[in-house]
Amino acid sequence: MNSSRLDAAPVAEVLAPFPWQMRHWQRLAEARRQDRLAHAYLLAGPSGVGKRAFAQRLAASLLCLEPDAEHLPCGRCAGCLLQRAGSHPDFNLLEPQPGKTQISIEAIRELCTALAHTAHQGRFRVAVIRPAEAMTPQSANSLLKTLEEPGAGVVLMLVSDRPLAIMPTLLSRCQRLDFSIPAEDQVRAWLGPCADDEVSMQRLRVLSGGAPLQIREFLNGDVTQRLDCLAGEVTGILVGATDPLMVANRWAKEEPLELVGLWMARLGEEWARLRILAPNRFPVLLDGASSRIQNVVTRADIEDVLAYTTYVRRVRLWLSHGVANRLGLLESLLVPLATGLRDFRHQEPASQTI
Ligand SMILES: [Zn+2]
Repeated sequence: MNSSRLDAAPVAEVLAPFPWQMRHWQRLAEARRQDRLAHAYLLAGPSGVGKRAFAQRLAASLLCLEPDAEHLPCGRCAGCLLQRAGSHPDFNLLEPQPGKTQISIEAIRELCTALAHTAHQGRFRVAVIRPAEAMTPQSANSLLKTLEEPGAGVVLMLVSDRPLAIMPTLLSRCQRLDFSIPAEDQVRAWLGPCADDEVSMQRLRVLSGGAPLQIREFLNGDVTQRLDCLAGEVTGILVGATDPLMVANRWAKEEPLELVGLWMARLGEEWARLRILAPNRFPVLLDGASSRIQNVVTRADIEDVLAYTTYVRRVRLWLSHGVANRLGLLESLLVPLATGLRDFRHQEPASQTI
């Protein structure tokens, strides 16, 4: 178990929830005004929407000795300063130890002992457990007693991308807060001027599934330029202007395979989705300026596109497990594109490459 520093972001941003989280924030502020905060919350939703940040901000608010009328923390009191220093005695962050994927029963027992003491500062004792599905069945069982009989002022927050993987007996004792992908306009307004490039934003939105924090992370790196490069190369392969073996060779040497795998998977999914729902539209991940590429993409047989999408998912998994034949796998992804995926459903590239 450890106390945690808040994210290394400007203080004002650390203290306030994201714009798309205000509904939950106001609901909790109202509950707090009426002195009916729950003892346990489940913060559930896809990755990249700010669940962890919300938990940190709620913790900061609860541990602040002088929050404002909206229950935003003041940032200056002893509670806030201890929290920012990562050493507040009433804040506990529980997550798997480095290199581990599970939260052990010993860690949960230690947490329960800490929560049994009275608060050192102020009124609340707060614990954030994430990802909550990392608790083993034994860990989850040992948390049950604290959930059933929490001391006064105890607030537990379970954060999870996969709430179905959490024991139902735990879920039933938590008040659930669902965090979903926010509206595109809201994300753009939050990102500000760096979201002005229309094509890049559309590509990042497809790549991230619309998750705002992931889009921001992509914008902060060189992902936008890499996406332009991947789009140009794969578009070139599809129209017969670029050698797929040459591209596979470059990717194997120069591109982060995690990004390539994600990009190819999203391309397959988007291609299949558009072939089914909007046959005349074009995947934004490609360069769609010429009628030639549009013809290739919109004429592909849906069965071939679906088979290809399934294959890309498998390759992505293999790449993530660090298989030796990376170049062969990338070639098996790119060569079929040179024929517009013709008859891909009858091919079995896996048997030749693994
Ligand atoms: Zn404060």
